[in-house]
Amino acid sequence: MKTAQESFSASDGNPPKKWKFSDMLANRAVRERWEKVRQYFFLRESTYDMTNRCNIRCDGCYYYEGDKQYARENQDPEAWRQLMRAEKARGITYVVLAGAEPSLVPELLLACHEEMPLGSIASNGFKRIPASVGYKIHVSVWGNDDTSLRIRRAKHLLIRQIENYQQDSRAVFVYTFTRDNIDEACGVVETLAAQGCKSTFNVFSAPVGYHGSLRHDGESLLRTREVMLTLLSSFPEHVLFSPYNAVAHTHPLGLHALYGCSYPRMNPSTDLGLGRSFRQYHADLNWDRHIACCVPDTDCEDCRHYAAGSAVVTARLFRHAAHPDTFRAWLDYMDTYLAVWVMGYEKNDNLCPELVAPPGFSLDHNGTT
Ligand code: SF4
Ligand code: SF4
Repeated sequence: MKTAQESFSASDGNPPKKWKFSDMLANRAVRERWEKVRQYFFLRESTYDMTNRCNIRCDGCYYYEGDKQYARENQDPEAWRQLMRAEKARGITYVVLAGAEPSLVPELLLACHEEMPLGSIASNGFKRIPASVGYKIHVSVWGNDDTSLRIRRAKHLLIRQIENYQQDSRAVFVYTFTRDNIDEACGVVETLAAQGCKSTFNVFSAPVGYHGSLRHDGESLLRTREVMLTLLSSFPEHVLFSPYNAVAHTHPLGLHALYGCSYPRMNPSTDLGLGRSFRQYHADLNWDRHIACCVPDTDCEDCRHYAAGSAVVTARLFRHAAHPDTFRAWLDYMDTYLAVWVMGYEKNDNLCPELVAPPGFSLDHNGTT
């Protein structure tokens, strides 16, 4: 595939040295996409562990690292309602309900949804969440059923997940690429697409201290990128992703090195944007600013998690708006993020089919472009 830089110099001659924002919007399709995605700039997220129980046990699970798993569960729906009201009052507009496994506490999910209408749930998909909970549901897929049995100790997991969420517009199946399951992705995504299910991609990001077989290396990241791009072009109706997502999440450098993570855990002294508003509540409704991020106890150097990117990459508008190629790539990333995370938002065609390097970096190496 050609890089954007190659396409540009072939078709446009000498670019101006310093681009203005109005140059970015000269193209009609770009302008329309910008107008569409900017309507969602009001989203302000926080995340919540709904329970410390899970009905399966996966190798490499970050939830069962660190102390959060020992929080005493608050199972009172009224307490969760009050928390949601308080969250709204301090400006939170979007909740990510995670866990361990949120489907085990449906009454708490419903209480949250009745108070805070926008959000998503991270679930293993083994147990169906009632239709009355109108959040996006991210169903985690770690490979085919043989791999799920080995890594997640769960039998027939993909079949169960499809039975539970086929024809459900809330559901997005999130395929997590580990070093171990890259070649299975084609079969799994094909199965999902044949059943009308939408998929997106995550990259396994090791918990602190994890050095097991799922952890990526340079070669596995490169292969992951190739398979992501193949699947994106093979199943454009069913895969919610973009070439820039693939670049950002399979680069040898992690998200923090490329974009600068703005979660409080990485920036304890920052009082701006995400650093100011984001909280990560444990199952006892307490939170600790010093460890707050969307994937706590993940090794920051290895962080390529899709949830982290959804906040970290989207926050870097100004860096990407320095050039039309990176701006189009950023719009594709935003469009993917909204299609995956927001009920009712439909993915559009990607504006930038070429591979574009993150601003200030090359596609694959540590050096600058
Ligand atoms: S389903 Fe999720 S919370 Fe449960 S063990 Fe697996 S990774 Fe951890
Ligand atoms: S794990 Fe990822 S999202 Fe969390 S603080 Fe580290 S770099 Fe940021």
